Amino acid sequence: MAFTTVNPTTGKVEATFDQHTPAEVEALVERAARTFSTYRHTSFAERAGWMRAAADLYDAEQPDIARVLTTEMGKTFSAAKAEVAKCALCMRWYADHAEGYLADEVVESGAGRSFIRFEPLGPVLAVMPWNFPLWQVIRFAAPALMAGNVGLLKHASNVPQSALLIEDVFRRAGFPDGAFATLLVPSGDVAGLIADDRIVAVTLTGSEAAGRSVGEAAGKALKKCVLELGGSDPFVILASADVERAAQMAATARVLNNGQSCIAAKRFVVVDAVADRFIPKFIDAMAGLRVGDPFDTATDVGPLVSEAQRAEIASQVDDARKLGAVVACGGEVPDGVGWFYPPTVLTGVTPGMRAYEEELFGPVAIVEPVADIDEAIAVANRTTFGLGSSVWATDPEEQRRCIEEIEAGMVFVNAMVVSTPELPFGGIKRSGYGRELSHLGIREFCNAKSVWVA
Ligand code: NAP
Repeated sequence: MAFTTVNPTTGKVEATFDQHTPAEVEALVERAARTFSTYRHTSFAERAGWMRAAADLYDAEQPDIARVLTTEMGKTFSAAKAEVAKCALCMRWYADHAEGYLADEVVESGAGRSFIRFEPLGPVLAVMPWNFPLWQVIRFAAPALMAGNVGLLKHASNVPQSALLIEDVFRRAGFPDGAFATLLVPSGDVAGLIADDRIVAVTLTGSEAAGRSVGEAAGKALKKCVLELGGSDPFVILASADVERAAQMAATARVLNNGQSCIAAKRFVVVDAVADRFIPKFIDAMAGLRVGDPFDTATDVGPLVSEAQRAEIASQVDDARKLGAVVACGGEVPDGVGWFYPPTVLTGVTPGMRAYEEELFGPVAIVEPVADIDEAIAVANRTTFGLGSSVWATDPEEQRRCIEEIEAGMVFVNAMVVSTPELPFGGIKRSGYGRELSHLGIREFCNAKSVWVA
């Protein structure tokens, strides 16, 4: 199998790489295991030095790296540059905080002295998606490497240039050979890697289907597993909301990354009291977004990642239309080159329609008017997912109820959902389990060793 970058804006093949042979994979896994035996004893200061050097390379080479991202998966060039900058920030965050996050925790007990000590586990396999080709990997790799683990990356098949670039930056930053390596292998090889005794844990960011296979393989091998899966995040606008601001942010939150983000707002739940003000503003904002060449600074929304992804979102919209939903804007596949799809708003979407039941991984929003806050919370929770949620309310009681009653890994009030190194990131229900980022993320791949000294 060859790994190919196809430019979503032009449909042209940009680069092709051969799959690693079984012998090459064996050598890379063996090198990771060997490297871990010494790397685990490096000091936080040494690792932080390499991590900061990697962050400096991301800053220095930001436009070149961003160009690779935009060419491989179609995000706007400005979004790609922001992603590179965010990776540098995350690397510095863990360079600064890892030692504190993993410091011994003294515990009062019946012992003379007792504490929890955090030790690295070993080579961790990361199976990652294409939508944030750098960020998804760095938010795993920065904490994992700072903790003293080593990383093996199986990236999405359509972003091999990003995958190799990440490995190259870590190497040039000074990390020992084998601290981080990219495996160019198909997803069919993942279960075999998880079963390998030298690999101690696995993390996957991706779809529910991939989550099931990776979770199953990890279960069989009795290995630690973190799953960051899909989302159908609600964006809830309540009676006390600043409606102007909510409408503006709603469009931004939906089309983030050309609509292909796990934490993009996907369902807009608005109470009747403000629906007449919110809905037309939101439709105008979505209809007014500029779709086009992701390298053009005037573009808001670039192409979808692939022809298949566009066909999927178009069929979800067509299904809703056929079953009686109203397409308030967008909803038609444009002619021409590139896998573009217009920002689309659907109303009248009801249970049984695919758009209601499935994740919408493209710039398509569904608007659901509700009577009051009780119904808003019920609708927000009526999903198999539980990743993020965004709530718009100025009234403290409305805020409190949403914070306490929405079933999600994250609740953002008067803000769109974002990921940031300070706060844990992850979901509940079918959005997966485990956490990335913050002190919780770095501890996922550590042995929390209880020490009792009598
Ligand atoms: P995907 O098809 O699940 O792919 C993600 C990764 O898993 C790729 O490396 C893929 O490899 C691999 N993979 C696919 N099927 C597999 C299997 N059966 N066993 C082992 N590995 C497998 O997802 P995607 O379409 O690239 O990404 C979009 C999905 O990711 C969406 O559902 C989105 O919500 C989710 N996501 C979640 C988060 C989060 O933090 N919760 C963040 C971003 C995206 P190949 O490319 O070789 O198939």
